[in-house]
Amino acid sequence: MPICFDLDGTLGTFGGGYVLLREVLGEVWGSPPMPEELRACRGSTDWEIIDELHRLRFGCGLENQTYQEFEIVCLARFRSTFHPEGKLPVAFQGIIEGLHQLVARGHSVWLVSGNVPLVLDFKAQALSIDERVHRLGSLPGCSRADLIRRAMLDSTSPHLYVGDRPHDQEAAEAAGVPFLCIGDAVPGDHPILSIDTGAEQLIEMVERLVGRS
Ligand SMILES: [Mg+2]
Repeated sequence: MPICFDLDGTLGTFGGGYVLLREVLGEVWGSPPMPEELRACRGSTDWEIIDELHRLRFGCGLENQTYQEFEIVCLARFRSTFHPEGKLPVAFQGIIEGLHQLVARGHSVWLVSGNVPLVLDFKAQALSIDERVHRLGSLPGCSRADLIRRAMLDSTSPHLYVGDRPHDQEAAEAAGVPFLCIGDAVPGDHPILSIDTGAEQLIEMVERLVGRS
């Protein structure tokens, strides 16, 4: 019964992700993409976004090796930015505590995020996410819905995707799983919890949505 959580904006925030992505691509490619090029990207995962930008700039799709180079530079940039003497992420403590309690209650809990895998690991560690929470970052050729489907191979339905942005809701719908929204950035009649939600409230809502309460 995988319960999948997006990371950025859902469990906490590292702020300025697009700025950092531009800087990293500028370092790898010699000059950064224009902000409007980045905003025009349709994908929501790092692989999709970088592949789109790569096609725009070089006229061909992204190769896995280039993606891995990007991943290493990106991780270095996060490491040098977020550390005890530098910037710190904002953790949504109640939601993270609830996520850990869901693990303790026997649920299969996943982080399914648009971050490259090494950065997802880094962010999960920075937010003190338990290692029993499975991690699935952005893989070559995979949309966010593909990643959710991959997590769903873990066991039979029901499943759930918890996210904070319209692309999370769209991915949940494409993968055929219910959507729980954190924050108010996604219009619609789906269930919503605030970023300040406490652990018990999260557990109650999640277990109701997956039919175990
Ligand atoms: Mg998000």
